[in-house]
Formats: sequence, C-alpha cells, structure tokens
Amino acid sequence: MPSDRIVGHSANKQVVIPFLDHSRLGDEPKATTTCRIGIEREQSMNSLEMQLNYPLGETLPESGKTIQIAPGVLWIRMGLPFALNHINLWLIEDHYPTDNGVVHGWTAIDCGIASDATRDAWEILFGEQNDGLRGLPIVRVIATHCHPDHVGLADWLCTRWNAPLWMTTGEYAFARMMSASLPGVDGSAMYPHFKKHGLVSPEMQEKIAERKTYYTKLVPAMPNAYRRVQEGQDIQIGAHSWSIITGFGHSPEHASLYCAALNLLISGDMVLPRISTNVSVFAVEPEANPVQQYLDSLKKYAHLPIDVLILPSHGKPFIGLHTRISQLNEHHAARLDEVVTACATPRSAAEIVPIMFPRPLDAHQLTFALGEALAHLHKLWFDGVLRRELGDDGVLRFMVK
Ligand SMILES: [Zn+2]
Repeated sequence: MPSDRIVGHSANKQVVIPFLDHSRLGDEPKATTTCRIGIEREQSMNSLEMQLNYPLGETLPESGKTIQIAPGVLWIRMGLPFALNHINLWLIEDHYPTDNGVVHGWTAIDCGIASDATRDAWEILFGEQNDGLRGLPIVRVIATHCHPDHVGLADWLCTRWNAPLWMTTGEYAFARMMSASLPGVDGSAMYPHFKKHGLVSPEMQEKIAERKTYYTKLVPAMPNAYRRVQEGQDIQIGAHSWSIITGFGHSPEHASLYCAALNLLISGDMVLPRISTNVSVFAVEPEANPVQQYLDSLKKYAHLPIDVLILPSHGKPFIGLHTRISQLNEHHAARLDEVVTACATPRSAAEIVPIMFPRPLDAHQLTFALGEALAHLHKLWFDGVLRRELGDDGVLRFMVK
C-alpha cells in the first residue's frame, strides 16, 4: 500500500478505513455465520478469527456493486448455492496489449459459477452507468484454480469480451478434463473410490451418483486455449506487477497473486480467514498426499510482509497472514493427532469422518469430508506413522504401526 489507509466505496456509501490499525487486533466482533461446505469447526475457527484484523470491518460489496480495495483494485462478490454462499472476485484496472493496440479495461481474477444469477450480476457491473467498472471492458481473465466457483463463467466472460484466459497448466488441464466429464474425473469415479475407503451406505451411494453432473453443470465449457501462468512469474496488470505463487494440496496448481507495491495478496483458496481450505484425496489420484502438499505450500507465503492485506476467495479481506498460517498449521496438527489416536484400532476413512466432523453431513459435504479424512490418513501413512491393510471386504483400513 502506498499510504497508510485505504478508501472503500460503494454506490451508496463512502468509508475511510484505517489500514494499518493493529490496535484492532482481537477486537473484531464474533462471527455469526459459517461457510466452507459447512464442515469446519465453528467454535474454534471463530475464536481464531478474532486474532485477525479486518480493516474493512463488516463492509461487503452488494450484488452488482464494487468496493475499491486500493487504487485500481475492486472487490466484487457473487452468490453460490451452497452452505458456502459466496465467492469474492477481484478486478484490477489494466492496459492490456492486443494486436489492435493497448486496451484500457479490467483484468478479472476468477469468474463465479455458470448460472443466470451470476451472469446477471456481471451484466449489471458491465452497465454503462455502473460507477465501479465505469463502462470499461474485461480485457483478461485470470483464474486462480479449476474449482467451479472460480472458473465456471470463464468461457462466457472470455467469449463475451474476446478476452484471453490466463491459468496455470495444471489448473487449466483439470478444468478441461472435468468440464468434458472424462473418465476418472467424472462423478461416476467417486463412489468406487469412497467405497474402497468404507463408504458402503446404499443411500449415500445413490446420493453420490446423483452428483455425477456436479462439475459440468457449474462449468459447462472452458475456453479452447489459454495463456500459461507459472511459479515466480511477474505479471504486469495496469500500473503494477503481480507475482505468481503456486500452491498445492487444494487443487492441482493453484495460483495466488502478490503485489509488493500495493502490499496485497490475492490468496484464492489457499489462505482463507474463517474456514480451513479443503484438502482431499479424490479418485483420479487415489494415493495423493495433499495435506503435506498444502502445509509445504503455506511456507511459500512466509516471506511476505506482516501487514500484507489478504484478499481471500471466501470471507473478508484481512491482515494477519502469518497468524493465520500458524493457525492452519495448528489446525492440521490437531486433526492429525485425532486421527492417530483413532487409529489405535484399524479405521477406514469413512470411520474417521465422524471423528473429524462430528455432525450430520449431506452428500455434498460428505464427499469433501471423506476426501479430507483420507488426506489426513495419507499424510500419516506417508510419514510412516500408520500402515494400511486391505480387508476381505475390499475396504482399506489404517492403523498405527
Ligand atoms: Zn477451491
């Protein structure tokens, strides 16, 4: 940040926010809502959240409105039809070079899901009278990763504005595979994978089978071409350079963007203030170790300034990156301890779910919970703490060595 304060505005209010007011640390009101597919631990996350600093307070952008985070950086929100009911998107004022000259407009960071409601919200923003985008076009789309809330409307946005899509190769390839519903990444691969890890309920089998079209409904198409983004790359967006920090464990090759001049980190889903990032083992990579990958990836943010403002995909902009990383490390260490204790007797991943997530889960939540339980088992398995055995019933069970 060039100055010690930022100004947030929306169409109907103007607020000046003390930017580096660390005296507010710990003074945030207790949060009352929950998100991330509804399987986080509400109590502990809320008390931890109070250690973070939210310089914009409770201010949120309304649908079709923007809030300026820094000069040329806008915050918008789109709805999601899940317990996690919103995604934050970011617009950065840009002068993008094309074959027809430099075009003044906006680089969009992430897109929202493919739905009429999200398209309608974008169209309001595109309106000539919208004082956020000021009638300027989208000149480029950068997607942090392949999940539907981030990439669902990439094809629509890129087509509507004749704008290029920038993504890492890992994320682009997975988005293409999943939107094409290829074998191994389509919904039908999910049940055999989870059955092997102890999910045998016919009712859940049916519910999970219904989820076969989950991704393709939310991401019906992807652009046929893209521009590659990779680790350490510096991307010029308008007046400033943004560095790519790749991260793993949540998705194949997640890209965060850090701007030293503005002291901003667009963290995507890698660092979230309220909820822990989902790290799951899925059918296409059944022996993955995503907890380890995720914890290793968090170290890549350690060099960033203590007062960097984090712009997360879910929740509110916050200061306290290093505090949050410590919390996330402690969160996973505690979950791993629980799992080791449980595995004094042989346990399948399905038997770990009620220990890690002790409340009823619907099919959507269960797939993430099972994936996450298995991810923690795998970290301990790769660390040599647990061994696993295939039972006569075809179910894999893990136990302390
Ligand atoms: Zn994600």
